[in-house]
Amino acid sequence: MDYDFDLIVIGSGAGGGTLASACATRGKRVLVIERGRRTQIDERVHDEQRTLFDKQPYDDRPIELNGESRRLLMGGVLGGGTSLYGGAMIRPSVDDFHPGKSYGERIDRALWDWPLGYDELAEYYDQAERLYHVAARGGDDFAPLAPPTASNEDEILPLADINRRLIDANRRQGLHPFQLPLSIDASLCLRCDNCAGFPCPTGARRSAAQLVDEAQAATSQLTLLTNCEVERFESGTSEVLGGVHVRERSTGELSLYRARRYVLSAGAIGSPAILLRSGFVHPLIGRHYMMHYSPLCVGFYLASTGADETFVKQVGFADYYFGTDDCPHKMGLVQSLPAPGPLMMAKSGGRLLPRWLLASLRKRMLPLVGIVEDLPNPANRVTLGEGGRICLSHQFSEYDRDRGRALGRQMKRILRRGGAVYCAGNALPSQEHVAHQCGTLRFGRRADEAVVDADCRMFGQRDLFVVDGSILPTSLGVGPSLTISAMALRVADILTQEI
Ligand SMILES: Cc1cc2nc3c(=O)[nH]c(=O)nc-3n(C[C@H](O)[C@H](O)[C@H](O)COP(=O)(O)OP(=O)(O)OC[C@H]3O[C@@H](n4cnc5c(N)ncnc54)[C@H](O)[C@@H]3O)c2cc1C
Ligand code: SF4
Repeated sequence: MDYDFDLIVIGSGAGGGTLASACATRGKRVLVIERGRRTQIDERVHDEQRTLFDKQPYDDRPIELNGESRRLLMGGVLGGGTSLYGGAMIRPSVDDFHPGKSYGERIDRALWDWPLGYDELAEYYDQAERLYHVAARGGDDFAPLAPPTASNEDEILPLADINRRLIDANRRQGLHPFQLPLSIDASLCLRCDNCAGFPCPTGARRSAAQLVDEAQAATSQLTLLTNCEVERFESGTSEVLGGVHVRERSTGELSLYRARRYVLSAGAIGSPAILLRSGFVHPLIGRHYMMHYSPLCVGFYLASTGADETFVKQVGFADYYFGTDDCPHKMGLVQSLPAPGPLMMAKSGGRLLPRWLLASLRKRMLPLVGIVEDLPNPANRVTLGEGGRICLSHQFSEYDRDRGRALGRQMKRILRRGGAVYCAGNALPSQEHVAHQCGTLRFGRRADEAVVDADCRMFGQRDLFVVDGSILPTSLGVGPSLTISAMALRVADILTQEI
């Protein structure tokens, strides 16, 4: 068979963009096919209406979520989620790779241990931190999380005063807050009050789009198609697929491309949809969708926190990662968030409050979010509906909610220690499924337990790999982007040897 490329990578996010750049810089001929366009950086880049309400840089497909059509907050531009994310790139705990230690009675025996352990990924976490320029404070105590090896103290953003107070007050009470490892270059950063969720106007926040661009500039090996959607795979044999069918979205023109290997990385909702549309029949395709249960807690202070005018998403607490005295169950990380913008403030309950009061509250707030590991449930799944539209069924379990409530109580205490005079909690999960989608094509040891094997190769299809958030068998208690990137770099090694 004639091949157009060594490798076709579908989707340019944390998984696909990272893998594509690694393979191209090692001399493989790579085609990246990205459904979205390149992010337009202009003066309206932090336009809240356009970005968070009209969702212009987000995936423009309505998803039928529990029967209701919605646009979800998942990256839909070159770089995928990493062109919009908060840049917190955090290693999980070594025990996250052994979920049986925390949930032995609640999950299948097959899920007790991931098919590979932390030690096998450690070198790829190092590489991913280097590629994404992760800056972390060397002396911080990250336990029980695995610590970053990158420290780059020179590139770290200076702590906002409110965060210094929050850290000091909580350390005095025996907690171990740390400065979040961020893929943000302080020398380029404008310290915007609203960072996560918006494109970065200066390129200070590293993204997979930058990796793809850099690989393309450094080598003639990478070809990039944007605004082009992979509709389905052309069937072939279990050894060789017949290619990918691609539609140019402006013109509707259809093309078929062939490669020695295919890497699916269209995100945890997009990837199973492509497999289902292509006629793959593994019973686990699309199942076990997870996204983290995320309790929010906002502390209000008498004096200004600066959250309305500067960058405050800087602090993490892993003290309750594996539970508390009153809730001895694994929970996850607590980390700070930027203050919501004025429109989001008005939407989430403040419609009746005058603008001056909302502005005053925004000036005096500091939000925290919990990243609670939600457990995989086969009923939470991606399917295709009429006409091929993507449907998502999802409910959190009572166990996820209970742990979220328990973590929310600790978040209030953290904020009060830092001087908050009032704390408002919100245990309601986002209806827009912000950010951490994963689990729908999980990797494992056996074909009856997982969709892809330990090398992320699809069982029964030798030339097809998956490297996005779909492969995670459990959702971890930290944001997934660093782990997805590390796994992608491991697969890049396998592919460069194999092709
Ligand atoms: C607002 C926000 C804040 C976040 N903050 C953090 C954070 O601080 N820390 C963290 O770890 N994580 C964070 N995340 C999550 C992180 O960005 C994602 O977990 C990560 O990007 C997922 O990587 P992925 O490769 O699975 O998919 P994505 O990065 O979503 O990439 C999938 C890509 O595939 C493309 N695609 C989809 N369908 C097709 C198709 N049919 N054909 C071609 N291309 C297709 C999409 O357009 C997209 O570009 C955040 C995400 C968001 C949206
Ligand atoms: S705060 Fe810094 S990294 Fe974030 S969007 Fe602004 S310039 Fe970019």
